[in-house]
Amino acid sequence: MKVQTASGAIDVDRLGATLMHEHLVIAFEGWASDVNASATDPKALVARCVERVEELKAEGFTSLLDPCPIDLGRDVELYAEVAARTGFNILFATGLYHEHFAAPYWRFKLGIEPDGAKYVAEMYVRELSRGVGSSGLKPAVIKLAVGADPSSAFERTLVEAAAIASNETSTPILTHTEGVHGDTMLARLGELGVPAHRVIVGHCCNSTDRAYHARIVDSGAYIGFDRFGMTAIQSDENRTDCLQALLEAGRAESVIVSHDCVFCQKGAMLAPAKLTRDPRHFSRDIAPILRARGVPQSTLDSIFRDNPRRYFCDEAPGLRNPGKCGNP
Ligand SMILES: [Zn+2]
Repeated sequence: MKVQTASGAIDVDRLGATLMHEHLVIAFEGWASDVNASATDPKALVARCVERVEELKAEGFTSLLDPCPIDLGRDVELYAEVAARTGFNILFATGLYHEHFAAPYWRFKLGIEPDGAKYVAEMYVRELSRGVGSSGLKPAVIKLAVGADPSSAFERTLVEAAAIASNETSTPILTHTEGVHGDTMLARLGELGVPAHRVIVGHCCNSTDRAYHARIVDSGAYIGFDRFGMTAIQSDENRTDCLQALLEAGRAESVIVSHDCVFCQKGAMLAPAKLTRDPRHFSRDIAPILRARGVPQSTLDSIFRDNPRRYFCDEAPGLRNPGKCGNP
């Protein structure tokens, strides 16, 4: 079974310990019009990313997925260069960002397009089957971003587009949520034919609603505890307690742990403190707390090593089904 990276397709067994939601670079649409900040040096961005990736290698990681939407500054050239210089596996996404941060182009385009979902799905399928631009490099996942309003026409279109493209190419979906409505979105994807195990419901750790967490894992999806260190939204104490509850309920196979760090930006929208969050935070600061509470290190290792593999192998968490790879 192969998985796509910024260095081409690799065997899924080569992924190893993988962070499933970190960003090398982001750029909010319009960044280039900030002339106070537009002297963004591409070489400096690469150097910063290489430095961060080398730190992750020293920590034992071998892969990361940057699920940046196309319109949030996805930069496949940069991923390829950083991957080439570090030997690290960098996976990336196709997909558009949610309505709140959508570019005017897409608000307008999806407003006039008679079948917006079909149009957007065609774009995703093009990238998944032929690669991005002339790079030949293919996305590993479809990013599906939904905001706080599940009834928004814009976002219903994005859900449908992701489902069409996922069904056509068997590509898994990784979602951005605001820590709410992940269950509603999952149900809609299910109606559209996407099996739950093909979906990571992202940012569920924004919420401390354990019944919500249970609904996500009971449905058979992967649950994203992928914002460790983002304490402006939720405390790490709460995140850690909720994660422990899932592990104690025997749900370790459903959990995806990451940080949603941003290594660098184009323009100057994010405060400098947001760019210094450390993608080694879980391993260094949270893992010892969980170990002290009796969670075996082997469980934590398995979350980073086996769960991403299982997801890319089209295997449902918690079931000993062989997916596309056979059991390890
Ligand atoms: Zn993110």
